[in-house]
Amino acid sequence: MPKIHFIDVTNRDGVQTARISLAKLQKSLVNLYLAEMGVYQSEFGFPFLKHEYNYMRANLELAALGAMGSMKLGGWCRAITRDVEAALPLGVKHLNLSISTSDQMITHKFQGKLDRSRVVQEMIEAVACAREGGIETIGVNAEDASRTDMGYLIEFAQAARTAGAHRIRYCDTVGGDTPMTAYSRVKTLAQGVKLPVELHCHGDLGMAVANSVVGALGALDAGVDAYINTTVNGIGERAGQADLLSCILAIKFGAGMESYPIGDPINLKTAAKLARYVSSAFGIPIPINQAGVGANAFAHESGIHADGALKDRRNYELYDYQLLGIAEEEITDTGRVITTGEYGGMAGLKYVYSRLGMTFSNDETAQDILELVQYANAHTQLPLTDDELRFIARYPEQVRKILTITP
Ligand SMILES: [Zn+2]
Repeated sequence: MPKIHFIDVTNRDGVQTARISLAKLQKSLVNLYLAEMGVYQSEFGFPFLKHEYNYMRANLELAALGAMGSMKLGGWCRAITRDVEAALPLGVKHLNLSISTSDQMITHKFQGKLDRSRVVQEMIEAVACAREGGIETIGVNAEDASRTDMGYLIEFAQAARTAGAHRIRYCDTVGGDTPMTAYSRVKTLAQGVKLPVELHCHGDLGMAVANSVVGALGALDAGVDAYINTTVNGIGERAGQADLLSCILAIKFGAGMESYPIGDPINLKTAAKLARYVSSAFGIPIPINQAGVGANAFAHESGIHADGALKDRRNYELYDYQLLGIAEEEITDTGRVITTGEYGGMAGLKYVYSRLGMTFSNDETAQDILELVQYANAHTQLPLTDDELRFIARYPEQVRKILTITP
């Protein structure tokens, strides 16, 4: 029975968004949280970009050490052999290769450099290069698929399949699909190519989540798996893309969704801390009315609502906040607070870690961790979180790589 999986692209589409960015340490924490949440894959970066190398190598090491559970780490490249060749030495095993397929983009972006058949040819060469390089899963991205002639899109996807691709990514790059077109077009594509389909939908019309979910249904109804591309808190190019938590909630609790199973071992208890971490790391507040994790998601004031919620929460709540890892009360330190960071010393470090239940075997190790903590804080320029501190002490060798960007 076909199933729905999640490929989170916060560390790729999210970070390439205008005006916002994540430090490599923060990207690493996002990967760890996504793994804890149980998503199928994190599209964790750009393996042809030199400033990503150390971060990507270290995260692949973390995965090899078991820190990422069963989550895969996938890279994003343009569908050109040059990008794929640059990615191979990193040891990435999963790649998505992207090229535009709409006449709009072929005509007005490639401007004669490529036509429809050359687009197919470039893609085939890139897929062949990835296969020869030992890439285990290859996704081929049809950029602007939603505005691509369906006959040509199927032809393109069939060529990708013949070349050895494992999935086709249907990109609603400018967010112009509606639930009706997303469903019918993805179903037609899936029936035509018989490859699992990825949904990559943007929110220019406010319908990224809806389009992703119904697009996935189209794929499943055609008998293939669906892989929804999401970001944490819906961050992404322009108006953003499909919010991870909203998509999961829609499939778990939406009306009529019973026969569309999620294929990943999703642990929703991670949802709230992941949303808050990403909000703080990007410096973007979570809207008060955000699904599941907004401050008002479980708040009731008006007479009829408060009365109803107090009598039986199901009167006004579709699902429980505890499910998302939201506690009834949260403890915050008041009065004297000791923190550690860029200018911290040994006593503060030992105190902070002891509060996390961690001690150091000797002073040399503590000195090493102190230095990494200082670098980490110099790198993120935000107070270090408990999970960041735990990560630094647990994986110092990988953290050292993550904090190193050599021009
Ligand atoms: Zn995108």
